Amino acid sequence: MKHDILTPSGIRALLAQQGLAPRKKWGQHFLIDTQILQKIILAAAPDETDCVLEIGPGLGALTHGLVARAGHVLAVELDKGLTEVLTHQFREQIQAKTLEILQGDVLKLDIPALLAPHRHMRRKVVANLPYYITTPVILRLLELPLAFSSITIMIQKEVARRMSAAPGTKDYGSLTLAVAYHATTEVVTQVPASAFMPRPEVDSAVICLRPLSAPPVAVDKALLFKIIHAAFGQRRKTLVNALFAAGLGENKESLAHALTACALRTDIRGEALDIFQFARLTEALS
Ligand code: SAM
Repeated sequence: MKHDILTPSGIRALLAQQGLAPRKKWGQHFLIDTQILQKIILAAAPDETDCVLEIGPGLGALTHGLVARAGHVLAVELDKGLTEVLTHQFREQIQAKTLEILQGDVLKLDIPALLAPHRHMRRKVVANLPYYITTPVILRLLELPLAFSSITIMIQKEVARRMSAAPGTKDYGSLTLAVAYHATTEVVTQVPASAFMPRPEVDSAVICLRPLSAPPVAVDKALLFKIIHAAFGQRRKTLVNALFAAGLGENKESLAHALTACALRTDIRGEALDIFQFARLTEALS
């Protein structure tokens, strides 16, 4: 019997048939809202020239739309039971070699090696991410030498806010700058908890990252992020005090001098600086 994987009853029946239940520890919240599903597909806009990496296909809610449009889909799922369900459901596409389903942990797999056979295709990531690993997955994807043309992902609303925050706001921080170093961000849509089964405890958002061909600033990356982490590690302190506490200056006077040289007030806090101002400060301190 074919189950409708976009309804709570269909999901429950399919899981029960396989002796499975949603696993909270792996962030298994299945998407049941077709409009949100369409918005994700529309934002990612996969076509036959694309090789799509899907993280956490679950029962295949997104996978259907992706295989119907993309040239190739590599779907990585941690749960063995779900991988078996997917392999059965999508046997035709797997046979046709338009879809590969791989059981494993996206944080441990060698993604560049897995995508190497499709190196001539444009690469995209699409995922309804398991929330317990949102930040490490995003940072890993952005650091990979793979030049994804876009990364369209469902994440917690709070994380989406932090990733796309403006300087001076409470959500602005080292995550905002880590993302800004690699990509531009666009919030595609907000998603209520009712769009999932079972319901998560938080609201969500779909965000589209477009990796840059080169970082927006050309300074020593390690020092830049040392400064950024120092600034936000103690965000209530002035930047001079935060940097001094992190051992980034010989004395507070020299740090104040560096700020003045960058046309910044000496009592400024780190949260007021954008990535270009942090880069200027990095040069002044290097
Ligand atoms: N894509 C499906 C949907 O939209 O209905 C399921 C999304 S659910 C939020 C997250 C999925 O990621 C689950 O299927 C879960 O088993 C899987 N997952 C959890 N941790 C993972 C990991 N480390 N690597 C790969 N997949 C993982």
